[in-house]
Amino acid sequence: MSFIVALTGGIGSGKSTVADAFEKKGIRVVDADIIARQVVAAGSPALFSIAQRFGQEMIQADGTLNRGLLRQKIFSDTNEKQWINQLLHPLIHAETQRQIKAATTPYVLWVVPLLVENGLQDRADRVLVVDVDKDTQLSRTIARDGVSRQQAESILAAQVTREQRLACADDIIDNSGDASEIEPRVAALHDRYLQLAASATRQD
Ligand code: ADP
Repeated sequence: MSFIVALTGGIGSGKSTVADAFEKKGIRVVDADIIARQVVAAGSPALFSIAQRFGQEMIQADGTLNRGLLRQKIFSDTNEKQWINQLLHPLIHAETQRQIKAATTPYVLWVVPLLVENGLQDRADRVLVVDVDKDTQLSRTIARDGVSRQQAESILAAQVTREQRLACADDIIDNSGDASEIEPRVAALHDRYLQLAASATRQD
């Protein structure tokens, strides 16, 4: 059994930056966003099922899923949204388990942007939240993605509040300061997780 640390935070809070610091410590990072794309990759059975249900135009010339079109089709249709979720969630769960089991590091960092939104906290042994205030989150998202303030605000509005997320945290990284503050904080957490993972293994 692998010891699983879930890393979450709102858009632009610094999850990728923090995950990179754990990766530098040699820890295996399992990324929920990457897995969500892998299960519908070109040539996958799930992509074939989607094309059967919504039409061949769901597959682009290069063989990949037309995400924009799928979003449009399921946007206001609860039934279709449910159909997609029933197709993809078990596949995403199975692939996540596979990657976690295959990891050979003392613990695994599972990066899940929508951990709290999707109620997945119980699938982790420990929840680490990257926390910044809303203004910082907005300005970093705008600078990184080149989106308007309005677009950034609407993405934020679709996520749980800072307070709801923090209520699920076992550990918090305050990322409101300089990026150079991340590495020492990650180093301390890494030591703690090594200890926790070791004692969890002994209990098994
Ligand atoms: P997330 O993965 O949570 O969406 P990122 O790690 O991509 O967030 O960080 C959002 C943006 O802010 C990126 O451009 C990143 O380089 C930058 N960033 C992250 N942490 C800091 C920091 N402490 N100070 C300044 N910029 C930061």
